[in-house]
Amino acid sequence: MRYFAPTTVEEAVGLLAEAPGRKVFAGASDLIPQIRSGRPEPDGIVDLKRIARLVQVRSTGTGWVIGAATPTVMLTSHETLATEFPGLVEAAGLIGSDQVQSRSSLGGNLCNASPAADSVPAMVVNDMRAVIATVTGTRTIPVHELPAGPGRTTLAPGEFVIEFELDHAPPGTADAYLRLIPRTEMDIAVVGAGARVTLDAEGRCTSATIALGAVAPTVVLLPDAAAALAGRAIDDGSLPAVAAAASAACNPIDDKRGTIAYRRHVAGVLAKRAVTTAAERARARTNGRTTGGHR
Ligand SMILES: Cc1cc2nc3c(=O)[nH]c(=O)nc-3n(C[C@H](O)[C@H](O)[C@H](O)COP(=O)(O)OP(=O)(O)OC[C@H]3O[C@@H](n4cnc5c(N)ncnc54)[C@H](O)[C@@H]3O)c2cc1C
Repeated sequence: MRYFAPTTVEEAVGLLAEAPGRKVFAGASDLIPQIRSGRPEPDGIVDLKRIARLVQVRSTGTGWVIGAATPTVMLTSHETLATEFPGLVEAAGLIGSDQVQSRSSLGGNLCNASPAADSVPAMVVNDMRAVIATVTGTRTIPVHELPAGPGRTTLAPGEFVIEFELDHAPPGTADAYLRLIPRTEMDIAVVGAGARVTLDAEGRCTSATIALGAVAPTVVLLPDAAAALAGRAIDDGSLPAVAAAASAACNPIDDKRGTIAYRRHVAGVLAKRAVTTAAERARARTNGRTTGGHR
């Protein structure tokens, strides 16, 4: 297996075009364990971490740009990003251990296309976009459109994600992510739930996006749950509809981590809790306080 370390996007695109059997990697925290457990070795592996554009967190006038190969520790240690998007950063902070975090990336978490990938529901509720390198230039798609099923993406051969775009959140908006795992850490989510809500000055919900991981082949968005919150306070009156919509929308598998019935139940509980936490954070923001998440 040959190893390549390009320093520009163009060089990486060229290396992938030369031989279809080559594969990109960032932290290799999924790739190497998969090869060691018997998956076929690619003909060559293309290291994305030497390309400066792919390893950075940058504030723009309208939001943020996060390089696809940026180690997740650079997100969890980024105070400004964590203050604005505590849910996204807490999701990134749940990936593996400190050692894994020094390697793992959002690009790898997304493109590995595990239904249980922790950062993906949090990226989806924040409407993040993936900028993709292609043989002819770049194209940009919503993160939600990239996973196609377990281990499969909509990327064409030779394409890879350069970076993610994330717009600044409107006033009164906050996000949250949480998951259930059978142990206290270092395990795969039984269910993961991301939520983002916007509240008006009276605390009524003007916008909500809720997404579940690990309960279907790809992330499940919950438009019915969001509709149930529209124009209402987020409280015991409106939250049961969120739980019911979450349990109804998921299509989970039965495995050693949980039965279908258990996963459906947990999906309802976590969706409700994620919305509650996001709403508490949004409320604190409308009251002039900020609340961080993971750090
Ligand atoms: C001990 C341990 C614990 C873990 N715990 C968790 C956890 O709690 N939650 C969780 O979600 N995951 C967990 N993981 C899985 C893994 O760490 C994450 O999925 C991580 O984010 C992968 O990032 P990476 O950069 O290492 O990916 P890599 O292994 O480099 O790549 C993964 C896949 O994505 C492709 N790829 C990588 N970057 C790109 C790109 N920019 N464009 C296109 N394709 C790309 C690669 O070709 C490969 O197929 C764990 C792994 C280990 C080893």
